[in-house]
Amino acid sequence: MVQNQFCDTEARAFVASHAQAVGEDVAMRLFTSRLLGGDKNLVLHGGGNTSVKTTVVDRFGNDLAVICVKGSGCDLQHLEPAGLPALALAPLLELLKLDSIGDEDLVSELRRCLLDSRAPNPSVETLLHAAIPHKFVDHTHADAILALSNQPEGTACIKAAFGDRVTVLDYVQPGFPLAKAVADAFEADSSVEGVVLRHHGLFTFGDDAKSSYDRMIDLVAVAEEFTSQHIAQRTGDVTRLAEGADVDRAQVLATAAQVIPVVRGAVAIPQGEADYCRMVCSWRSDDDLVKISSHAECARLVAMGPLTPDHVIRTSGSYLYLTRDEAADPAACRRAVAAFVDRYQTYFEAHKSRSPVEPAILDGYPRVAVVEGLGVLAFGETYQAATIAGDIAEQTLRGKATAEAFGCFAGLPPAQLYDMEYWPLERAKLGQRPVATLQGQIALVTGGAGAIGFGVCQSLCAAGAVVVVADLNQVAAQGVVDRLFEEYPDAALLAVAMDVTDPDSVQSGMDQVVLTFGGVDVVVPNAGIAHVSSLRDMGSEDFKRVIDVNLFGTMTILQAAAKLFEAQDTRGSIVVQASKNVFSPGASFGAYSASKAGQHQLGKIAALELAPLGVRVNMINADAVFGDQVRSGLWEEVGPDRMKSRGLDEQGLKDFYRDRSLLKVTVTPRHVGDAVVFLASDAASATTGMTFTVDGGVAAAFPR
Ligand code: ZN
Repeated sequence: MVQNQFCDTEARAFVASHAQAVGEDVAMRLFTSRLLGGDKNLVLHGGGNTSVKTTVVDRFGNDLAVICVKGSGCDLQHLEPAGLPALALAPLLELLKLDSIGDEDLVSELRRCLLDSRAPNPSVETLLHAAIPHKFVDHTHADAILALSNQPEGTACIKAAFGDRVTVLDYVQPGFPLAKAVADAFEADSSVEGVVLRHHGLFTFGDDAKSSYDRMIDLVAVAEEFTSQHIAQRTGDVTRLAEGADVDRAQVLATAAQVIPVVRGAVAIPQGEADYCRMVCSWRSDDDLVKISSHAECARLVAMGPLTPDHVIRTSGSYLYLTRDEAADPAACRRAVAAFVDRYQTYFEAHKSRSPVEPAILDGYPRVAVVEGLGVLAFGETYQAATIAGDIAEQTLRGKATAEAFGCFAGLPPAQLYDMEYWPLERAKLGQRPVATLQGQIALVTGGAGAIGFGVCQSLCAAGAVVVVADLNQVAAQGVVDRLFEEYPDAALLAVAMDVTDPDSVQSGMDQVVLTFGGVDVVVPNAGIAHVSSLRDMGSEDFKRVIDVNLFGTMTILQAAAKLFEAQDTRGSIVVQASKNVFSPGASFGAYSASKAGQHQLGKIAALELAPLGVRVNMINADAVFGDQVRSGLWEEVGPDRMKSRGLDEQGLKDFYRDRSLLKVTVTPRHVGDAVVFLASDAASATTGMTFTVDGGVAAAFPR
């Protein structure tokens, strides 16, 4: 249910702190724009737009009438002054007198009207905002409006709810045609409080920010009330999707851990013969979503288009529906995805002639899978994209469930959906981002809170991977995650407590990763401990402890990874953190050197066994890695003894190792991290079973 969040005191304080910089009008515009953007029942992720008409003094000291309108793709919730570019109003009104104008010309004309040529592209609805004479104009895609306007008799439903308070327009493609339609409607009747666009959303307006906002909230609340009353009064054959049997949460979690990697593998897009465009998964499983996903009518509903057309660029038009059995069976799951892609191609072929120039077909893979009994699995090339798709899919399922309970959901026909999906101005909202080396890949680093682990996580973040910091010490792992967020604010990170010597702990950590991100593509068994002792004086428990963590702890990770890679069936990479000691062991370092030699050998076995799955396994032999940002546990153990035996202090010891190497370099955790990224990347797609040295050059440790 929407609520009016306008607070006079807050508004005054906000204006007081912003008016100096941007003027009162724009400050108020920002204030209520953010209120609208903060309510997911009104808009989601870049949806909706707002404007204010005001006066500015131009460079030559003249007053100029302008409209400040939301930038295309900007988010209302976090709108900043830069996201409200100003355009000269008079030429926009001239444009509205044209009968038609092409997209590229329209964008060019809009840019020409901008006061600051460096500003972002203004909203594709700029002309519509200009056409409405009121000072403030608000536009949302409110769920309650969409539930009513996406009915077969949508206009009648809206009229029944609002009477003469609004004008209802049939669906018109956003941009110039919609601006003209709204301008005409306004000319015919300017007394209304709002304009409802069928299959799209609602515009309200007012001479001050508060009245436009109040009208928006009021009209949406009326729609909500009307809908819920109508549903309550309905009897007989009513489809109530969200009212199934109680959800068994433990059962849902257990099934999800099994099923999600299978689905994630099936929706990865093949790239050439040896790679995939993998996707991150955002799973949504509130009770109502699980119930909706279990309803017999769900498959029909998710195959239909979105609630409002601008969702199509985030989630594609229709969602994939999988029965419980399909989702659990990799072959059946892949068949369902293939059929989905086929249907997409048919849809594209049927409508491509609507584009003035035939566009390249999009991949056609699902971005949302609704799985019977599990709720929503949303996918994206980045965690952010998956989250956006998930937020939209949640609202969409709920909106369709409401629409069905009210009457019957009837979305936008495929032809109009195509127009929106392949409209260049709409696609431009997504922006062009360079593809990161490990985009869409999820990397797990054990011993992630150690010095090398931290460096590896830094490199993986820099390469665009989603990073899971696994460590025995959950608090330390979370500390690393916090530090990484400071350095990489857009990263997707998770701290997981994991005792690699306990298979149950490893499995539950892996499950946590699956439920959070969908699976794992890069695994770095990196957890390790050391113990200094001659064989003569070695304590049995000390020896066993080192073997347990370094060797058995690698086995448990390889085992869990192998099962996950098999379920996903999209290849993958393992980079084992071995050691220079494998080839060049040191006296009084028997437990460590033996465990590392065993671990290195396990890596080779894994390379043999996992090659049929396309999983590559390589080993890194690093040496003398000192961490500056995170202290090395290994050196805490080994350093004092080494310093004592060589009569050196800490810096002296670092210098000693640097000078001992052929290249005379100080080896850092980032050297190791960058090696991990290289080995996990496409660049190494023909390499497995290899030992990669990161030691500054130590002749005695050359692989042989
Ligand atoms: Zn819109």
